[in-house]
Amino acid sequence: MNKYDSLTLKQQLNKEGHYWVEKPERAELIIVNTCAVRLHAENRALGRLKTLIGLKKRRSNIQIGIMGCVAQELGAKLFGILHGIDFVVGTDQVDVIADIASGVLEPATYTNVNSDFFGLDTSAFIPKNQVSSFVTIMRGCNNLCSYCIVPYVRGRERSKPEREILSEIQQNINRGIKEIILLGQNVNSYKYGNIYFHNLLRSIITINGVKRLRFVTNHPKDFSDEILDIVKEYSQIIPPAFHLPLQSGSDKILSAMNRKYDLKHYMKMIENIYQRFSNAAISTDIIVGFPGETEHDFKVTLETMRAVKFAGSFSFRYSVRPGTYAASLEDDVPEKTKIGRLQQIIDLSIKLAEKYSQELIGTVQQVLVNGIDKKDPSLFKGTAPSGRNVLIVTHKSLENGDIIPVYIESATAWVLKGRDNSLC
Ligand code: SF4
Repeated sequence: MNKYDSLTLKQQLNKEGHYWVEKPERAELIIVNTCAVRLHAENRALGRLKTLIGLKKRRSNIQIGIMGCVAQELGAKLFGILHGIDFVVGTDQVDVIADIASGVLEPATYTNVNSDFFGLDTSAFIPKNQVSSFVTIMRGCNNLCSYCIVPYVRGRERSKPEREILSEIQQNINRGIKEIILLGQNVNSYKYGNIYFHNLLRSIITINGVKRLRFVTNHPKDFSDEILDIVKEYSQIIPPAFHLPLQSGSDKILSAMNRKYDLKHYMKMIENIYQRFSNAAISTDIIVGFPGETEHDFKVTLETMRAVKFAGSFSFRYSVRPGTYAASLEDDVPEKTKIGRLQQIIDLSIKLAEKYSQELIGTVQQVLVNGIDKKDPSLFKGTAPSGRNVLIVTHKSLENGDIIPVYIESATAWVLKGRDNSLC
């Protein structure tokens, strides 16, 4: 979501006549988009801002602003923490930044909650050659997982009207976009009037020109068979690649995290997926060292990862996030144990990812071309339906946005390499 906000803001500022410079030393306007999900991320953002404010000593005409979740969380207090900052813009007011930059609005604190705001719609000025585009369908979250600050900084769940989503996607397609990635804290709980997420998927599929459709993030308690049925029906367009955050394999920890599902439910969902798609790419998030996590709880998480055969995992070591319910629990897993457990999770994730990728050797993948490899410009690059990056050997001149069959010849954990199969 942060990446989406940054990209669309960049596009909007471009449209207003501002341009991007590579080094902050050359900028007249510096905006730091912040994540508050871990205290560590927040502290790093504040540290970065302090350094950037130092640039004002040499050039006093620089404007420096902070946006995103830390801005929403701390609001005007940031002026006391970061002397020299010019403006603070919360999660629902990104649209004021262009006006601040143009001098129409005063640099100040803008953190009002606006439940009608779904991010900047910049589909009308997408750069040429861009292949994929995010489209926000909902914002906020009602789930209140005990470790998570998101519902407090991004607000409660609200869904964007279907007609606005369809029109934004149509605009994207008109600008040459081939792949749409639907975004939301929990896309599965999309509901606008009597339109649910699976209804929305069906409507999007009818838009001519959507070559590939993906969505993040799912919540295991809301991921339904109706979604799987649509993916099955349209798997040429909606690949069977699902991000389903497990967080822990232990029911005791899942309950303490307030995740609202247990392992049995999660595994049933996985079984349903594999019954329909033996080649599904299932990825996940794992937190280790949550308060109360014993060695046994941790082992169950490792076993679950092996049983699911995750194609990819994002793993984190628990740290106290002030402002959440879990911050009231004793952080009783020693740091050394957390580090050790995290390493085991990372090692296992890489092994599982390698295994997943290697099973694709000898198959033909439909690859969406998105450019030329930076390291070896003789190769094109793209993404497979699973989301894996693919390096393509071909004698043809491919265009961004082409979907071509690629015979996979080799694989590492995250990258596949193969030959343009349309040549054979
Ligand atoms: S589902 Fe849980 S972890 Fe995800 S954003 Fe909502 S509260 Fe946070």
